[in-house]
Amino acid sequence: MGKVKGFMEYQRALPLDREPLERIKDWQEFHLEMAAEDLQKQGARCMDCGTPYCHTGFMLSGMTSGCPIHNLIPEWNDYVYNGFWHEAYDRLTKTNNFPEFTGRVCPAPCEGSCVLGIIEPPVTIKNIEYSIIEHAFAEGWVEPKTIAHRTGKRVAVVGSGPSGLACADQLNKAGHSVTVFERDDRFGGLMMYGIPNMKLDKKKVLQRRIDLMASEGVIFMESTEVGVDYPADKLLEEFDAVVLCTGATKPRDLDAEGREFSGIHFAMDFLRSSTKSVLDGNAPTLSAAGKSVVVIGGGDTGTDCVATSLRQGCKSVIQLEIMPKPPLERQPDNPWPEWPKTFKVDYGQEEAAEVQGEDPRKYSMMTKKFLDGQNGALKAVEVSKVEWTKKEGRFLPLPVAGTEQIIPADLVLLAMGFIGPEENLLQQLQVQRDERSNIRATDKTYLTSREKIFAAGDARRGQSLVVWAIHEGRAAARECDRFLMGATSLP
Ligand SMILES: Cc1cc2nc3c(=O)[nH]c(=O)nc-3n(C[C@H](O)[C@H](O)[C@H](O)COP(=O)(O)OP(=O)(O)OC[C@H]3O[C@@H](n4cnc5c(N)ncnc54)[C@H](O)[C@@H]3O)c2cc1C
Ligand code: SF4
Repeated sequence: MGKVKGFMEYQRALPLDREPLERIKDWQEFHLEMAAEDLQKQGARCMDCGTPYCHTGFMLSGMTSGCPIHNLIPEWNDYVYNGFWHEAYDRLTKTNNFPEFTGRVCPAPCEGSCVLGIIEPPVTIKNIEYSIIEHAFAEGWVEPKTIAHRTGKRVAVVGSGPSGLACADQLNKAGHSVTVFERDDRFGGLMMYGIPNMKLDKKKVLQRRIDLMASEGVIFMESTEVGVDYPADKLLEEFDAVVLCTGATKPRDLDAEGREFSGIHFAMDFLRSSTKSVLDGNAPTLSAAGKSVVVIGGGDTGTDCVATSLRQGCKSVIQLEIMPKPPLERQPDNPWPEWPKTFKVDYGQEEAAEVQGEDPRKYSMMTKKFLDGQNGALKAVEVSKVEWTKKEGRFLPLPVAGTEQIIPADLVLLAMGFIGPEENLLQQLQVQRDERSNIRATDKTYLTSREKIFAAGDARRGQSLVVWAIHEGRAAARECDRFLMGATSLP
């Protein structure tokens, strides 16, 4: 254990973020770094409680509890407290291929199940993780590794999101020759063209890791869609195994009157166009500049749309959420170590509140129809309040008569989640799907219904989190290695 009673001496503290009104003027990351001595105090708050739920990582009441990749959190907290940064880095990378991604974008289910969190604010696990890996990069400890032995086996990983990258990294370290196919012009999956630059810097952070993996021998093929630019049959002929990490990118649509009007777009089309313009230095093909924006959907994607709209200079932005406003504290039906379903203010809402004087979210709101001005161009959204009512054992959002409202809008962004993987390649490969249309493969073998084809990430488990995608990529790599070699030493 680090410091006995450290949790009694020190309060939870996070580094400051850049001021909202300053940071919306650019696309740079908004988190600032914390001084090493302050981080040591935060590490000292870990109680080494003996039953560290923070690293359990399982589904509890339908939500993630603990770290899905089982990061050895109490151990690296102790090392940080004692100033042993290299040891902390060694421990961290035993379980996490990409702490620089999770340290930035993970919602930190570990903190929701931290034992200290029962009586006090939890340990700042995510920020300590971020600081360990950035410290390691700054010290030059993160260097390309030489792969001592090559097995002569060839593996194709289709998709370069976090699951594909984690899978490729593990298989390469096991000595296989790995090729990552990506249909986009840049690698990283939703970490590249979904999560915006201010949350995860594409050149400084994402490309840094891709370059490292390439220098360790992973072959990256961009702008190559398997099943279109590269025949699926050829893939099976040329590779000893294939891992499908193609994501679950089919967006959920809204069946409302007027959906066909111009000005209504899927969030991902908007976010993609924005990040592409930031990286290419062009104007975005789809812009919020000067527009009244309504974002439908209160999750991470919706928040990213709010923050992006502000940076593009929108006239106003509103975020509609169909669920009621969460409580400030845990409720009796949401006890520790469940993920706390409490009210949170994310970066986009903080920025919108500074610019507009109030939180952009409107809760318990249902979109009834879209209204047009002229020639099918969107003019406004008609919404109404809903009441969540139990009917035949299920809670349903029922519109409340007389609460209708018209919100002026010339850009609507649909951010209501994703309904499953795209069809084309899966049909060509004839892999079976489950009842939610995801690729059928168990979490024991990760093997699909076709021999030598494995699946991992959102394509297998449905839309999830970066940390689950890393977990899946690592586990599928282990099973693929076992298939290729008859045994495996991958974790
Ligand atoms: C806007 C947005 C914000 C998010 N924010 C967060 C966040 O803050 N924190 C968090 O933890 N999670 C977040 N998520 C979720 C997270 O990004 C995903 O769960 C994660 O990226 C899934 O990883 P994956 O590797 O399974 O798939 P993906 O990241 O979707 O990658 C799949 C890749 O496969 C490629 N591909 C598909 N078919 C083919 C083919 N036939 N040939 C070649 N390539 C192909 C795709 O182009 C894509 O690059 C967010 C998601 C979105 C959309
Ligand atoms: S990866 Fe996420 S859940 Fe795991 S320790 Fe880091 S912040 Fe916590």
